[in-house]
Amino acid sequence: MSQGTINVSVENIFPLIKKFLYSDHEIFLRELISNATDATLKLKHLTSIGEAQVAYGKPIIEVKIDKEKKQLHIIDQGIGMTAEEVKKYINEIAFSGAEEFLEKYKDKQGEDTGIIGHFGLGFYSAFMVAHKVEILTKSYKEEPAAHWVCDGSPNYTLEEHDKSERGTEIILHINEEDEEFLEEGKIRELLVKYNKFMPIPIKFGTRTETLPKPEDAKEEDPAPTKEVDNIINNPNPAWTKTPTDLKEDDYKSFYRELYPMQFEEPLFHIHLNVDYPFNLTGILYFPKMASDMNIQKDRIQLYQNQVFVTDNVEGIVPEFLTMLRGVIDSPDIPLNVSRSYLQADGAVKKISSYITRKVADKLKTLFNESREDFEKKWNDIKIVIEYGMLTEDKFFEKAQQFALYPTVDKKYFTFEELQEKIKDHQTDKDDKLVVLYASNLDAQHSYIEAAKEKGYEVLLLDSPIVSHLLQKMESEKEHVSFVRVDSDAVENLIKKEEETLSKLSDEEKESLKTTLEEVIPSEKFTVQLEAMDSNSSPFIITEPEFMRRMKEMQQTGGGGMFGMGNFPEMYNLVVNTNHELVSEILNTKTQKKKERLINQALDLARLSKNLLKGEELTNFIKRSYGMIK
Ligand code: ADP
Repeated sequence: MSQGTINVSVENIFPLIKKFLYSDHEIFLRELISNATDATLKLKHLTSIGEAQVAYGKPIIEVKIDKEKKQLHIIDQGIGMTAEEVKKYINEIAFSGAEEFLEKYKDKQGEDTGIIGHFGLGFYSAFMVAHKVEILTKSYKEEPAAHWVCDGSPNYTLEEHDKSERGTEIILHINEEDEEFLEEGKIRELLVKYNKFMPIPIKFGTRTETLPKPEDAKEEDPAPTKEVDNIINNPNPAWTKTPTDLKEDDYKSFYRELYPMQFEEPLFHIHLNVDYPFNLTGILYFPKMASDMNIQKDRIQLYQNQVFVTDNVEGIVPEFLTMLRGVIDSPDIPLNVSRSYLQADGAVKKISSYITRKVADKLKTLFNESREDFEKKWNDIKIVIEYGMLTEDKFFEKAQQFALYPTVDKKYFTFEELQEKIKDHQTDKDDKLVVLYASNLDAQHSYIEAAKEKGYEVLLLDSPIVSHLLQKMESEKEHVSFVRVDSDAVENLIKKEEETLSKLSDEEKESLKTTLEEVIPSEKFTVQLEAMDSNSSPFIITEPEFMRRMKEMQQTGGGGMFGMGNFPEMYNLVVNTNHELVSEILNTKTQKKKERLINQALDLARLSKNLLKGEELTNFIKRSYGMIK
């Protein structure tokens, strides 16, 4: 038996391990299973190249709880270690990274604790939960097995052992305060969380399997059963396979495997697969999106060679894609840096733009292959696409080929098609293409109807970020302005179209304006006389497009041009001087009746813009009853 002191260049590392990793000590299991997996894969490699003269067989990794002895065992059938190797890899090498680790993270307790494995401290994370750790290991080489014991001080013992099966068994003597790691439920939870897709089968206990009844069995005979290994993981998850080997159903069932609590099927998937200039595989799914963007994040899982790392992919995947679900697996994502460095990392940037490109390509393909189907899905995917267009210039460009602009009548146009369709009829006096849109079919109903009557196309754009997107569209595309149906800018269009003659003389107009302004509160409405079609409404309330949009942008974040200031409520009251009612207002002799007509017409206009509420609404209703009595 030999004894020694572990080569620690930093005074007593064990308390430090505990201190640093306190917030996250469950990762010890992931680290040990990763080591077991590596050892098994190494053996596979060595046997395949004829380096190791042993049969690889069908190795598994086993996790066992011994409640009585308060021990947790992790057993593999991998390459194992000779006594020399234990000295070298466990006693010495293990700590070469420790110094660097401590140096780098001494100020960052609790942050980014997942990185411990990447500093060669993986094995020692066992001491977060164990006061004593044993290694029983037999190398594939013809050498006796070794037994290493360390009690959490820098001292260890190393002696020969009679273990005869190849591989390594790690025995953790679990701390009293960490006894949760002796609970079957807890260990199963961790195995599922971190190891669900690791490449070597992981056994945790056994389960009873029901076998088919033999031919000659009687009705009342129970079906035979047998005890089988309970394998926790799926060693060959869909993303590791070639896309051509997978069918639509395979993708769907993998989605259910990833999100067992998710009952809704994904809309479609994107299989990622590159090996140059970086390695990345994965499958992304487009789920049906609700319109609230925030609650849907953190659904993409990041793996490194099938080991779960995190479900926070911020910085790796462009923000707009964090609304998707699925898996990304890449050995090239540097995990040993803090998140803020990630975005600046060259490889990560490439990964991010690769993913963006793949997503855009897939959308383009879906659009080309079946436009009808794409249109059906539009409502469920538009938030991702619109958000992507808003935040990623490259994506904005590509999206021109598939981003859709639905009308209130459920026709779908690309922007180019829309432009072609409306340019003759919807170009204003400044030669700008005026795109009319509504954001709410009910609230803007009368305005939509009025615009349709004039033969205009009205889009239905109702995502929460639409005002931001339109702002972007207007700055990217020349000579385009988006105008909501209830906005003042619609008038410019109408004016150009009609050039209607006014029935009223200039004096009459003067007098009408004075009369109106006496009754209508000037702090709320700017009165504007227009000679319009006599069939158009007599009073129409419009809102300056610009102000309203700024207000909306402020509410949904950004749009900080005006700081945090509040935007005043500003409306125009457009009075159609060619309408009969307006002539009547002008010609009514009694002041009281005049006021009543004006107020009634104003309230009707407010009602159609959803502006009449509370006491004013009550008064309106009373007045209306009075009038029909
Ligand atoms: P890392 O895995 O990052 O190299 P660890 O501290 O986890 O660092 O392990 C140190 C070394 O010990 C490994 O590189 C490997 O050579 C050896 N080792 C650890 N666990 C096993 C195992 N189960 N079987 C064989 N060798 C192992």
